[in-house]
Amino acid sequence: MSRFDPILASRALWQIRVRKRPFVLSHGVNARCNMRCKFCEYWKKTGEEPTKEEIFKLLNDAREFGIGVYNAWTVEPLLRKDLPNIMAHAKRIGLITSMVTNGKLLYERAEELGDVDYLSVSVDGIDSYKEIRRMDFETLLKGLKKAIKVRKLQKKKNPILMNCVLTGKNLDDIETLILLAKKLGVKVSFEPVHEFPGISDEIWNDIGIRNKEKFHCTVDHIIELKKQGYPIINSKTYLKMVRDGKMDYKCRASGIIMNVTHDGTLETCRVHNESLGNVIWDGFESVWKNSEEHRKEIVENCSGCLFFGYTENSLMQSFNPEVLMHYEWM
Ligand code: SF4
Repeated sequence: MSRFDPILASRALWQIRVRKRPFVLSHGVNARCNMRCKFCEYWKKTGEEPTKEEIFKLLNDAREFGIGVYNAWTVEPLLRKDLPNIMAHAKRIGLITSMVTNGKLLYERAEELGDVDYLSVSVDGIDSYKEIRRMDFETLLKGLKKAIKVRKLQKKKNPILMNCVLTGKNLDDIETLILLAKKLGVKVSFEPVHEFPGISDEIWNDIGIRNKEKFHCTVDHIIELKKQGYPIINSKTYLKMVRDGKMDYKCRASGIIMNVTHDGTLETCRVHNESLGNVIWDGFESVWKNSEEHRKEIVENCSGCLFFGYTENSLMQSFNPEVLMHYEWM
């Protein structure tokens, strides 16, 4: 979190360490996307969207289960007209709220996000942005600037986060992006693109990180700028792992973050999509209990990943001192 909150930290510790249950619900709040990027798999999962009432019930059940943070993401939350009601309900029942958006509708909807505590916007480059996202960078920047202004008026204490996925396309933009974050007064985070096997080799050869030397130098430069005080929220421990492609951490992601799709399916994480049960039909407690062995097996056999949230949260739960002291975002 951007400011250390001892009450929230002890609630999280109690839930994760003592009750052995996750603290964050990462929820596919809808099943539609307005970008459909070629390197992304999430928009391909279509289906009937849950109603507002169904989501209210899901949130109440989650709260009862001990969840403390509600993260609305996949595919594009701002496509839901009733998103402000959903976030307001989450706040009303005592959850911390966060949201990840591609930013396409940010300009139109910035004023409606008063109940979002942590707002994260995908900004995957500047000059390279259009090629990656098929939208003008200026359109995104206009929305971003408006959201910054609105959140100041709403007296939101947490700055916006620009999250950037490092690919073979945007390495030349990274320094400019960090300078922009500083100029705008927002935070920035990085993570390497994960090459999902469901996407063709042709696409990965185009967008994947193939020039390892350049990538290494870029991440070194990010680490240097972080040391100089630029608003990069990743820990140095994590950035070094990214630079070296080392996944030598014990994955605790599924014990911290519950990944629930729009239809209520519990999945281990963003990579392992096998259904572990349905929390809408069977309830959080029973799905969590009945999937324990299966989850363990999946994690034990996994060759690892370097997603920012999963890695940093796992490092934090393993009491890595640097991550514990400096980690600013859930
Ligand atoms: S390390 Fe494996 S199990 Fe853990 S979050 Fe990454 S992909 Fe999922």
